[in-house]
Amino acid sequence: MEMQRIGIVGAGQMGSGIAQVCALAGLDVTLNDVSEAALQRGIDRMTASLERMVSKDKLSAAEASAALMRIERCVEPGGLADCDFVIEGATENVRVKQAILRQLDAVLRPGAIIATNTSSVSITKLAATLDDPARFIGMHFFNPVPVMELVEVIRGIQTSDATFEATVALARRIGKTAIDVRNSSGFAVNRILVPMINEAIFVLHEGVASAEEIDAGMKLGANHPIGPLALADLIGLDTVLAIMDVLYGEFNDSKYRSAPLLKEMVAAGYLGRKTGRGFYTY
Ligand code: NAD
Repeated sequence: MEMQRIGIVGAGQMGSGIAQVCALAGLDVTLNDVSEAALQRGIDRMTASLERMVSKDKLSAAEASAALMRIERCVEPGGLADCDFVIEGATENVRVKQAILRQLDAVLRPGAIIATNTSSVSITKLAATLDDPARFIGMHFFNPVPVMELVEVIRGIQTSDATFEATVALARRIGKTAIDVRNSSGFAVNRILVPMINEAIFVLHEGVASAEEIDAGMKLGANHPIGPLALADLIGLDTVLAIMDVLYGEFNDSKYRSAPLLKEMVAAGYLGRKTGRGFYTY
């Protein structure tokens, strides 16, 4: 399938990063958000990221400005009508996503693919919103998108092989490595990563080791580039708790019970880097 124009819904942290990597790969991009102000915030974030790449000699100034020139913007979903592939990266709210998907289903040509970057909503459930669920798939990027190499490509039960293959091809074209994942709560990576972070919080709470010792242990003993508690501060403790709650609710298995200290810290507003205090002080 020939892909030239990619639509991105949501110009937030993730959407702007996805738009950036697509434009750098030479694809035309249409970026959609609910207001001009939200679109401008996305473009500003992208401009700052591209400038950092230029200052580190990863990119020439000409390549950076050419990438920005490939991005069009629109506040109406109708502006995405000529896209071959649309990635939904709007706010993590199932009703917001379902409304967007119904609009996309109506404006896109038959055969155009619709992907979602959701972290927690079932791909199968979102696909059921569409008249043609076979063209729907999960494309789960990691933050920050320009840096992180992985994309989880997640099939709902309705997803066609053609949709899967086109999505993997797009991931490769924008320089990412795709892994093939079946729809399941937390997909593959968060299902493994977040309970590990939760366990580190139990270890801290039980006084087995300090935060610094736990993080040093996992860096030096398990070869992780960052310790689990520093990573929790980076992700945001509220997000870590929300993912544990989704896993617990979905699987009804006590192994996904969130650590009491995690709940306590979220209740206190100690959410990590974004509030200046988590397991460490910033
Ligand atoms: P964000 O809050 O930074 O951005 C969301 C954007 O969506 C905002 O600009 C908002 O105005 C826009 N939006 C809301 N409703 C819209 C609509 N109807 N039409 C168009 N735009 C709309 O959020 P984010 O961190 O970029 O997350 C976006 C998605 O990516 C979520 O589904 C999230 O779960 C997922 N995700 C996030 C991360 C992460 O680390 N932040 C990682 C992987 C996946």
